[in-house]
Amino acid sequence: MNLRKHEWASELVTAIARVGHSFPSRPDLRGVEIFQHYFDAEGRFTDLDRRDGACSRRELLVRYLLLNAVLDQGPDTTGVRMLLVQVTNELYRREVRFLHRPEDFFRELGIAVDQITDVHKAVTKMRAAEWAEANQSRASKYNLFLDNTRQVLGYAMFRWGTSLAVPLLLTKDAPDGSDTSRALLDYLQSWPSAEIMSQQVKDHNRYGLGKAIGDKAAHLFAKWIVYSYALSTRDGPSWGPYSFEVPFDSNAGRVLWRTGFLLQWASEEEYRKWEVIQPGQGKGGLHYLRITNIRSKGSTIAAANANLVAAYQDLCVNHLRTHRKLPKKIEIQRIPPALLLSGRTHTPGELDDGLMYIGTEFCLNHGEPLCGACPIAPLCEGHVDNAGLIQSYRT
Ligand code: SF4
Repeated sequence: MNLRKHEWASELVTAIARVGHSFPSRPDLRGVEIFQHYFDAEGRFTDLDRRDGACSRRELLVRYLLLNAVLDQGPDTTGVRMLLVQVTNELYRREVRFLHRPEDFFRELGIAVDQITDVHKAVTKMRAAEWAEANQSRASKYNLFLDNTRQVLGYAMFRWGTSLAVPLLLTKDAPDGSDTSRALLDYLQSWPSAEIMSQQVKDHNRYGLGKAIGDKAAHLFAKWIVYSYALSTRDGPSWGPYSFEVPFDSNAGRVLWRTGFLLQWASEEEYRKWEVIQPGQGKGGLHYLRITNIRSKGSTIAAANANLVAAYQDLCVNHLRTHRKLPKKIEIQRIPPALLLSGRTHTPGELDDGLMYIGTEFCLNHGEPLCGACPIAPLCEGHVDNAGLIQSYRT
């Protein structure tokens, strides 16, 4: 890769992160009635270590965000957040205090299932038409239950139940008489870095959520507690702004593909070989981009760039703490944060917010994205001189 292209790639990720700084994407916790007194008049958190019943405020927020991350794996983030806020409010009004006492969710499963069903219907009524228009789909396809299922019990137990079972099990496993007011947060922060924590949230033999949470959602959770809400209490680079990977979802991947960013690090043939590009498998017979297949794929092009390699090694060894020795392979999904780390003006959290904003507001998953209004249009190869990057691929 020549210097001009390296500078363009750095400029692009910085421009996206700048957009993210102005348009942060995070759940609006002020809509949750039990959290409303956690905020001061300016909308900032106050007294996070104060007790609220059996837990600290900080702990309750972390429990809520873990559940939100698990649910936020479907097609409509706005709808998911509305559903979670409203179900939480309804359950607490009925004294089902499931964040304070996760066992309440299981004990009152009938109430929980009824509330999820009713609120899902109400959210569908509000969101389906708008969602269908933005995605060139049909309103009848709107469904926040994951895996395209319609069974509320499976959704309630597999997604809600497993998320709530983590703090429940941690509390039960704690030695008699110990303080469990931050059971989940203390467990999460026992890992050496936010990145390793996000992996363990999925993979740990006893407390891992397994298939209930994807890599993207686990990284989203790390982003929320480290960057968006700054709920973690650990210091140092391994719990700092570069300590987790950017959640890599279809919105992020679509923007990075259409701008030409991903083709800077590997060839189209390589992306086909890795089944990131799946010819003819997308909507309307176009090429399908399965962005999650990029995970752990290496870039030989990046390995030839000494500045990038140095930043990448610093990222892996000191911030993500996934390597003790200098890594040789440059994984493509870690190149954007490595570029940001070498500049240090913006962070992976801002980058992800920018990708979310651009991906959902402008770079829509059809052949007519709103390039004229897109804030990164002058830097976008698909818009400036290679329309095929937009027209031939869908995520
Ligand atoms: S200019 Fe168009 S194709 Fe490029 S990122 Fe923006 S919306 Fe997407």
